Amino acid sequence: MNILVTGGAGFIGSAVVRHILRNTTHTVVNVDALTYAGNLDSLAETVHSERYCFEHHNICDRAAMDTVLNVHQPDLIMHLAAESHVDRSIDGPAEFIGTNIVGTYTLLEATRQYYNNLNGDKKAGFRFHHISTDEVYGDLEGTTDLFTETTPYAPSSPYSASKASSDHLIRAWHRTYGLPVVISNCSNNYGPYHFPEKLIPLMILNALEGKPLPVYGQGEQVRDWLYVEDHARALYKVVTEGHVGETYNIGGHNEKRNIDVVHTLCDLLEQLAPAKPKGVNHYRDLITHVTDRPGHDQRYAIDASKIQQQLGWVPQETFETGLCKTVQWYLNNTDWCQRIANGSYQRERLGASA
Ligand code: NAD
Repeated sequence: MNILVTGGAGFIGSAVVRHILRNTTHTVVNVDALTYAGNLDSLAETVHSERYCFEHHNICDRAAMDTVLNVHQPDLIMHLAAESHVDRSIDGPAEFIGTNIVGTYTLLEATRQYYNNLNGDKKAGFRFHHISTDEVYGDLEGTTDLFTETTPYAPSSPYSASKASSDHLIRAWHRTYGLPVVISNCSNNYGPYHFPEKLIPLMILNALEGKPLPVYGQGEQVRDWLYVEDHARALYKVVTEGHVGETYNIGGHNEKRNIDVVHTLCDLLEQLAPAKPKGVNHYRDLITHVTDRPGHDQRYAIDASKIQQQLGWVPQETFETGLCKTVQWYLNNTDWCQRIANGSYQRERLGASA
């Protein structure tokens, strides 16, 4: 099969591209605009594969999407391209409305036209998989409830509202136009190649440099963590085995308070990186409590029993094994981190595509 992945230069998208190329014989077309979050370094192992092709385009560009679909004739589409950082959505929501809502709409319309012209087995097997977040369900504060696939939507941030909007568009294109879609909503991911603005890589890299570890409020917010490679395996199952029109929640059964995540990271670093920066006695001493994010959801937790029962997917990593692998990866891949810190990951690729 030929699988078109949008956002394949991002954190989860690159894990999906690596997963497909390593574990199947399929071809991958990666459509990515290379925003600040897109990093071709994360795909270094794939660039020489004859089964990989990169298309540098914005999903809001309808003409470009039409051309890509007509040229590559994908069997499946996995749509991950998005603006994904909640803090950035609070500082400037416009990009989130543009990419997550208008971009998804544009891709849906291009796909609808492409799908309508397919025939036979190619049409029967075609799927559009929209990758979304558990944040669309809102806040579980004060309850022991879990998000299920039928939990009503109640997004809190511009990011989650834009993702909720895109989920609604996907369902409407299925019901109104018969586009064969599947949707998945996932909890917080962590693992290798995570951009250093997000909690876990930020804490690891700040700690290694002896910088403060900023924790929102008292760090009481609870998230359900999923190792990114477990997520990539789940996404491949959803797009190849999921039932048309269905939604699958994906989670790691790892509910943790942010402050506990940071403590665990500090303790892991004490073992794995005992030679601390000058003036640092214990990594935990670097923890600094900062003003909480406005509208901050207190708790997310996923009931992932549907994907387990219907598609036979369960995560392979526990939080402890996944976090240990993650810290070790950042310790072993200082070049990847350095090229983000000094901006060369962006300068070189822009030069290459100019
Ligand atoms: P990311 O920010 O790391 O990567 C996003 C990718 O999309 C980048 O490569 C970027 O260049 C590309 N992109 C952005 N705007 C684009 C545009 N207009 N056209 C084409 N490409 C564009 O994001 P991620 O963490 O890998 O998340 C991937 C998807 O999974 C997103 O849809 C996100 O909402 C969802 N998700 C993420 C998490 C998480 O914990 N990271 C959890 C649940 C769901």
